[in-house]
Amino acid sequence: MTTWSVGALLRRLTAARASRFALAMAIAFVSLCLPLFAKAAPEIGWGRSGIPILLYHQVLDTPDTYTVTPAALESQLIWLRDNGYVGITPSDLKAAYESGAALPEKPVMLTIDDGWPSESTFVELVNRYGFRASYFLPNFAHVTEEEIRALDASGEVCGHTVTHPNLETLSYDEAYQEVYQNRIWLENIVGHAVTCFAYPFGGYNDTVVQAVRDAGMQMAFLAWGGLTAIDGSMDPMAIRRVNVNGAYPIEDFIAVLNGAVGY
Ligand SMILES: [Zn+2]
Repeated sequence: MTTWSVGALLRRLTAARASRFALAMAIAFVSLCLPLFAKAAPEIGWGRSGIPILLYHQVLDTPDTYTVTPAALESQLIWLRDNGYVGITPSDLKAAYESGAALPEKPVMLTIDDGWPSESTFVELVNRYGFRASYFLPNFAHVTEEEIRALDASGEVCGHTVTHPNLETLSYDEAYQEVYQNRIWLENIVGHAVTCFAYPFGGYNDTVVQAVRDAGMQMAFLAWGGLTAIDGSMDPMAIRRVNVNGAYPIEDFIAVLNGAVGY
């Protein structure tokens, strides 16, 4: 109820020469109702439906579904920074999900898959704007071991199989080896356990999930799905991400962060 409508109500009551009692009752009713209306107002922000886990692939001057331009990425990072978002990693999410560890008030997870050469532009920009990010790397990623250690120091590296097959097309044993050998390769480089993983092409089924889990992964990410709520609805082996479509304007990017769907 707005001030205008309260005023209108009072004017109508006065015009009708209502008794002082009726007027007092109307004012009391409005006073009681205002806090109720205020409480019922919809909440705006990530808390409404979850944490944005953003998925990038390439950063080039040829935008498409899986490629954002350096300028677009920079605009998104500036918007995130100016609106109070703080970068978290899969380890932060795991700690929050498993033991209720505190997260920043406005968390965002920036993830990039495949280790394409243009990933260096992504690294430069996220570091410039102070965001920790996560890097999902197959064994053929275009990064040196030294660069992988630097990525792990500034954010977190995660598994993405040896050869990037759609795991749904493989046997259990083949899927297991794809995930396990990739994990061992990464762990030997960074010197600690790697337990986060993304399904190539987002492809997974019950057999794949079992193979990924048996290969030592504890958090597995999809390639779509929207925002991620940390509650009983989150499946640690099928965590949603939002693909950042390079063909869409920043208004759409902002709408997704505010809970819109269909990005
Ligand atoms: Zn991939």
